[in-house]
Amino acid sequence: MDETTVSALKGQVRGEVITPTDGGYDEARKVYNAMIDKHPAVIVRCANVADVIAAVKAANAENLPVAVRGGSHSVPGFGTADNALVVDLVRMKSARVDPALKTIWADGGCTWGDFNHATHAFGLATTGGIISTTGIAGLTLGGGIGYLTRGVGLSLDNLISADVVLADGSFVTASEKSHPDLFWALRGGGGNFGVVTCFQYKLQPIDNIVGGVMLFEVEDAPNVMRAYNEYITNAPRELGAFFAWQIAPPLPFIPENRHGDTFCVMVVCWTGAPDEAGKAIAPFRKSAHVVAEFIGSMPYPAMNSLFDVLVPPGLQHYWKAVYVRDLTEGAIEAHMKFGPKVPVVNSTMHIYPINGAVHDVTAEATAYGHRDAKYATVIAGMWPDPKQNEANIRWVKDYYAALAPHSERGGYINFAASDDSDRVGANFGSNYEQLRKLKKKYDPSNRFRVNQNIMPT
Ligand SMILES: Cc1cc2nc3c(=O)[nH]c(=O)nc-3n(C[C@H](O)[C@H](O)[C@H](O)COP(=O)(O)OP(=O)(O)OC[C@H]3O[C@@H](n4cnc5c(N)ncnc54)[C@H](O)[C@@H]3O)c2cc1C
Repeated sequence: MDETTVSALKGQVRGEVITPTDGGYDEARKVYNAMIDKHPAVIVRCANVADVIAAVKAANAENLPVAVRGGSHSVPGFGTADNALVVDLVRMKSARVDPALKTIWADGGCTWGDFNHATHAFGLATTGGIISTTGIAGLTLGGGIGYLTRGVGLSLDNLISADVVLADGSFVTASEKSHPDLFWALRGGGGNFGVVTCFQYKLQPIDNIVGGVMLFEVEDAPNVMRAYNEYITNAPRELGAFFAWQIAPPLPFIPENRHGDTFCVMVVCWTGAPDEAGKAIAPFRKSAHVVAEFIGSMPYPAMNSLFDVLVPPGLQHYWKAVYVRDLTEGAIEAHMKFGPKVPVVNSTMHIYPINGAVHDVTAEATAYGHRDAKYATVIAGMWPDPKQNEANIRWVKDYYAALAPHSERGGYINFAASDDSDRVGANFGSNYEQLRKLKKKYDPSNRFRVNQNIMPT
């Protein structure tokens, strides 16, 4: 990057401007997925909206792509890129709750841990991811699937407005009333339309929940999956639940002689009356013999960080995703072929329900294009040792190939891999053409292209 532009930028911003010759550059260019090793031209750790505007204008002056980093969890590493200007929002973490209106203004650098910390003080919450270290920004702009999805919708369904720095460096607040086309595109279009500096969400009175995990033998998995598929269709909306594979970590509630064995698990989160939790999860308990169980009352933020320990920063990640309309016998067979071979304790496959409140919203109401699916399935390869790259990537690819015939063509953009660019249209689904038109309107030169990229028409 031109030295004059760098020194002008350093004079303009209150955050940090880090170039390849600065100490700290190697630390600053790291993202959550340790497989990503990119060398951006400059990293701007913005302290406020003015810094973001200055950074985007500098990228325009130098004709550099902008990579936006919220929580840094993008598996393909979209929070950085070679020769790009990185807008890193890690310092922008303000979160202000209005308890009377039940809303929150949360900055683009907040994680779900930051968000839940702010809202739980008022006994409030909304749909976030299942891991507390994931960023609210990338997760919300692509969809937002979590424990509360069936009850209150995707994270993006709870968005009221968004402050955005656009590709030309101008600033707007997008909502149903102001720039409604942009507001539509932000809700499902990912990071294609600008840098969201602040999100406003509506909140629900959700405080303590009853939740946790139950483990079943691998050979019982077909029955557990069938019971899950049947029950979740019309289960009470206060129930969040998903099916997964899990190698047992050495936890006290699991018999010691079973540590390291592979299980199928149901993860549950009940937000209804505590004394009705037993009834709500009974169909899972009845589906097969429960080998071990850890379920109890806890604050919602505790549920939201229950599995954080399995996914520390610094793992290698390779994921694939599909949407699924029904868990057919063919799909169950494919799961049984590859699920029990899950290679390491961090890796898994989750089948998340996206019915309930998600289906109350029409497919055209927001840019999120797959409201007809019942599940979002992710095969998440996550492993500590780069020497295991080949074996783990192979497991994910083979599993995905076996599931594909029983799935929709598209997958959830936030779970997609970097080599999925040929599936972008299918991943955005029925709203793709409209998204391309709006991309042309708001970012005609594709300044924001380090993402599941929508090419301007
Ligand atoms: C361990 C783990 C658990 C996960 N669990 C869930 C889950 O439960 N539910 C779920 O739905 N997803 C989940 N995801 C996927 C997650 O939604 C995506 O990885 C998402 O992109 C993360 O957002 P981020 O801000 O942390 O990512 P980043 O890497 O910071 O950003 C990813 C992309 O999002 C865009 N972006 C980020 N910030 C902004 C911004 N402020 N303005 C505009 N664009 C921006 C950019 O295009 C950027 O390239 C999980 C991912 C991981 C690694």
